[in-house]
Amino acid sequence: MTSTQVHTPSTGKYTQPTGLFINNEFVKSVDGKTFETINPATEEVICSVSEATEKDVDIAVAAARKAYEHVWRKETPENRGKMLVNLANLIEKNADLLAAVERSTTERLSGWQRLTYYGGWADKIEGKVIDTNPDTFTYTRQEPIGVCGQIIPWNFPLLMWAWKIGPAIATGNVVVIKTAEQTPLSGLVAASLIKEAGFPPGVINIISGFGKIAGAALSSHMDVDKIAFTGSTVVGRQIMKAAAGSNLKKVTLELGGKSPNIVFDDADIENAISWVNFGIFFNHGQCCCAGSRVYVQSGIYDKFVERFKARALANKVGDPFDAETFQGPQVSQLQFDRIMGYISEGKKEGATVVTGGERHGDKGFFIQPTIFSNVTEDMKIMQEEIFGPVCSIAKFETEEEIIATGNNSTYGLAAAVHTTNLNTALRVANNIRAGTVWVNSYNLLHHQVPFGGFKESGIGRELGEAALSNYTQCKSVSIRLGDALF
Ligand code: ADP
Repeated sequence: MTSTQVHTPSTGKYTQPTGLFINNEFVKSVDGKTFETINPATEEVICSVSEATEKDVDIAVAAARKAYEHVWRKETPENRGKMLVNLANLIEKNADLLAAVERSTTERLSGWQRLTYYGGWADKIEGKVIDTNPDTFTYTRQEPIGVCGQIIPWNFPLLMWAWKIGPAIATGNVVVIKTAEQTPLSGLVAASLIKEAGFPPGVINIISGFGKIAGAALSSHMDVDKIAFTGSTVVGRQIMKAAAGSNLKKVTLELGGKSPNIVFDDADIENAISWVNFGIFFNHGQCCCAGSRVYVQSGIYDKFVERFKARALANKVGDPFDAETFQGPQVSQLQFDRIMGYISEGKKEGATVVTGGERHGDKGFFIQPTIFSNVTEDMKIMQEEIFGPVCSIAKFETEEEIIATGNNSTYGLAAAVHTTNLNTALRVANNIRAGTVWVNSYNLLHHQVPFGGFKESGIGRELGEAALSNYTQCKSVSIRLGDALF
């Protein structure tokens, strides 16, 4: 069987594909292995899906290679773009179902806009003519890299699926995507639309499986030309090692963060609280760019902490299918335990629990929105990525001091500054070492705007025009027009 009937509260029964999507077909894994997907709100099993091992990775990579060499390289950019737009339209048509599947394990986002956007780029990839000498005609081509392995995380399964497919396919590559073991379902439902969108077999392959097995096989594969990874910094290092130890495949990484969210005395305090709240508690803190280090200038510190506490308490925690819900469950028991571990560490280290700090309810992986104050720079909860609904607040005095403190992290993914002074905003934005800086806002990602990390938060950029360069390589062609030189 490569599909099963699954129920969601908002759509009723639907057919959930459970196979590996290779060559435009859902197939069982070679060893017939499967693994379960758990609903984190109820802790019940939703269904089981096929598990890819090294053998399945080999089959998927061979399918991708064949498609690349024999079919996809010969396709016109215009047609590549059309297929991406077709897929975007099919995803939009099935948006309610996809959102429901997504909500069964994580959040409620869809990714179709990114595919339309990258569909538009497909026929706008251009090279240059370089005038070196009257006797020589030289031009460059931005060529695809080839077979791309893409490993995605569980926090935004469908969004990450689309972020990865869009730029890779637009630029003429073929892909093997490994979804995260906690959240394979929405990616498989979306996979069922690929054939109808017109893609030839083998161009987009989607496999489910575990990181240490399927993920490791993909990142060390000798016939994978590039690996793109989104996930933890720990695993990012392993991916780079696997690339280095195999065929030196190209690597792009979008990793963790511990992003500073800085509030100056002159900020519009209610606005700032809304964004700080959204910055940390959106998607239950399961965002690589979560604003988990909150720094508030001393003049408004006490007032801010009191009002932020009230705001966090008003966030409704509960059933992800309830329209009133702001915060659902953490994705898994493992994540729940990790986050609760950080909370008890914070308590032990002497930080003050302003609100939260406990499990919410007694079923499902729910955690109360948690704010710690009196946090010092050396505490674990101020330095390490928690990936949950937990933030640390500290007080600062001067702009100079907060730029240094804001940069006091091995990460550099995002930051925000809240102030009504334009000069302060721009000075801080220019001096913070992070790939994205928001002013008087937070988490405002847009598919046209590059996103990625400084320092240990990553290599390369996703989204926008910048993402295209992760998936092309420059070839220079020189044509001698004159007589032989030698
Ligand atoms: P988390 O720890 O939050 O689950 P990970 O970085 O472990 O995040 O997971 C992100 C993705 O990386 C998932 O698809 C996972 O299966 C994959 N992954 C985990 N370990 C490895 C590994 N050693 N090699 C390749 N991929 C891996």
